[in-house]
Amino acid sequence: MRITMIGSGYVGLVSGACFSDFGHDVICVDKDASKIAALEAGKMPIFEPGLDKLVETNVAAGRLTFTTDLKSAVAGADAVFIAVGTPSRRGDGHADLSYVFAASKEIAEAVTGPIVIVTKSTVPVGTGDKVEEIMAEANTGHEIAVVSNPEFLREGAAIGDFKRPDRIVIGTEDERAMQVMRDVYRPLHLNHSPILFTGRRTSELIKYAANAFLATKITFINEIADLCEAVGANVQDVSRGIGLDNRIGSKFLHAGPGYGGSCFPKDTLALLKTSEDYDTPVHIVEAVVRVNDNRKRAMGRKVIKALGGIGSDGVKGKTVAMLGLTFKPNTDDMRDAPSLSIVQSLIDAGVKVQAHDPEGMEPAKAMMPDITYCGDAYEAVAGADAVVIVTEWDVYRALDLKRVAAAMNAPVMVDLRNIYPPSDVERAGFAYSSIGR
Ligand code: NAD
Repeated sequence: MRITMIGSGYVGLVSGACFSDFGHDVICVDKDASKIAALEAGKMPIFEPGLDKLVETNVAAGRLTFTTDLKSAVAGADAVFIAVGTPSRRGDGHADLSYVFAASKEIAEAVTGPIVIVTKSTVPVGTGDKVEEIMAEANTGHEIAVVSNPEFLREGAAIGDFKRPDRIVIGTEDERAMQVMRDVYRPLHLNHSPILFTGRRTSELIKYAANAFLATKITFINEIADLCEAVGANVQDVSRGIGLDNRIGSKFLHAGPGYGGSCFPKDTLALLKTSEDYDTPVHIVEAVVRVNDNRKRAMGRKVIKALGGIGSDGVKGKTVAMLGLTFKPNTDDMRDAPSLSIVQSLIDAGVKVQAHDPEGMEPAKAMMPDITYCGDAYEAVAGADAVVIVTEWDVYRALDLKRVAAAMNAPVMVDLRNIYPPSDVERAGFAYSSIGR
């Protein structure tokens, strides 16, 4: 099959590379010329484990190419995937669909034969209808079907998730489009990945419902963690104690600094906007969004308290070492990372921040120019009054705690990911606080 992927970011590039690995002919398009130039030079514009090798192999096999020229990439394709960004619209939290619609218009002008257009971007209910209108208005004279096929991969484990998905959701009632999508995903179907065919609007909503449910699970355990702290219970044991129940499941029950990243914050907000538009409130998701927003600020206050301050007082001039900046390990994605709010509250309180992250420092520099970036964890903790573990990268899991304590001005650790047993850290001489234990 000939597949065109519009948008070569975290989703488009991974999906395109995996499709080519299945044997399809794939062309990845991006309007960011620097991304395409990097890819053509064999350099990955994002950090995703295993992606460089996958791209290299498939480029060498002649199945994967890159271009900025959408028109030539669309001509003759069997399926065109739209994998452009759908960030929160400034001001109101609706999903910003301008990139999706712009790409749709460009596709409409480039179509040369029967084609299936697939929205892989996360888009609100009804977006497929609007894409279909754009195609109709362009009056191409070709048979065009518009399909929803949301993506569920996780950054940091994206290739495995794409190749062995829990399910593939395809929203269309068009027989020809169904057959094209079966052909696109045939290699996965042979691996027994379930394919769920449903209506387009249902498919669009499945993606938001899934993300809102996961965000709810995280937020639930975060509030239980606060309760654990108040009553002297241990949230890790509570998680295990409830997660072993198959009806609940153990995943997404790790208490922490609140969810962040490029999906949950914007997708929960966009779901609320859809629910408002249809006058059908989703009160649980409203609470999740509110609780999570408050939590990120509360994490800043937690660090200030560990430094001996109250509110934002009494800590001016102190130094905090932050280990981890990305919203989770194994990615360089800084979008909506909890570290951004924590750093802001520390800077507002006059605290200096020295940070390290294995992959996120380059994107972080543009977002947080006022902090000092360090070569490794030990450089970051030098002279600090507290060290905060923000992201549970493996390199922070086995620090030489005595060496860390000796390098610091005061041995204070705030572990927002519960990666250390309290007794180990306390034995190394730290005043230690974590989440819900
Ligand atoms: P991204 O910002 O990394 O990539 C989007 C790319 O699209 C950018 O490189 C941009 O230059 C390009 N682009 C925009 N308009 C274009 C156009 N007209 N022609 C060509 N290229 C264009 O975004 P992402 O993280 O890959 O997310 C893409 C979509 O997938 C979003 O809707 C997101 O919600 C969804 N999604 C993301 C993830 C994730 O983990 N990142 C997971 C599932 C779903």
